[in-house]
Amino acid sequence: IIDVRGVWKRFGPAEVLRGIDLAIRKSEVTCIIGPSGSGKSTLLRCIAFLEEYSEGEIYIEGELLGFALEGGRRRRVSDAEVARVRRNIGFVFQQFNLWPHMTALENVAMPLKLARGIPREDATKRARAMLDKVGLTNRAEAYPSQLSGGQQQRVGIARALAMEPHIMLFDEPTSALDPELVGEVLQVMRDLAAEGMTMAVVTHEMGFAAQVADTVVFIDHGVIGASGSPEQVFRRDENPRLRQFLQNYF
Ligand code: ATP
Ligand code: MG
Repeated sequence: IIDVRGVWKRFGPAEVLRGIDLAIRKSEVTCIIGPSGSGKSTLLRCIAFLEEYSEGEIYIEGELLGFALEGGRRRRVSDAEVARVRRNIGFVFQQFNLWPHMTALENVAMPLKLARGIPREDATKRARAMLDKVGLTNRAEAYPSQLSGGQQQRVGIARALAMEPHIMLFDEPTSALDPELVGEVLQVMRDLAAEGMTMAVVTHEMGFAAQVADTVVFIDHGVIGASGSPEQVFRRDENPRLRQFLQNYF
């Protein structure tokens, strides 16, 4: 469903992604792990085209993202065309990025009205259903400042889900949370995975990765150092960098 082929990303002289090949398959959970600064966020941001990748190709449900190929050269396509190809991608960030002056319900409904032009009543109805789904039925009228971090992040997830994405990208969705609030967010993600949502999750929650991931990908200095089933990757025999990284967790 997502095909990343030979992707490089440079920021000036810095080579942050150095030839990433990755397939994210339908209804599977792909967990991306790796040291700080290894390029995990950059990879997700390239897949959502929040960053323009420097080289290679990213296909979203069969369509090349961001560029058109013409006689072997690539040409940047219009923003409208980018928006069309990535419209089925939902993104959940580490920081919740909620609008502070809007209620939980309005936070979820607003993008439906703005980006999809859905009439107010329908948008509100769908927003309520999404808040139900993440267990916030009774907090719809609360403002972000009145919600715990875990609740705010669940609003963030509801907001992404309301757009009916085919693919959800999560960038360390629990790492800004107090430890006792991590579980409720992971549970929502587990439920989503069980429903068959296609997900790519950058995470330091190795327990979650071990339990939920179909594929674990270890990124190190902008290259994939290891990938496979959790059993394969967490067995960590061959790759010394991976072994060293995992020592911090197990
Ligand atoms: P963390 O676990 O700390 O979130 P990460 O694996 O997500 O790390 P990235 O945020 O992808 O790492 O960053 C990878 C490298 O790219 C870092 O060295 C970072 O400084 C660099 N980088 C990221 N964004 C930019 C940018 N906009 N301009 C220049 N360099 C950047
Ligand atoms: Mg990051």
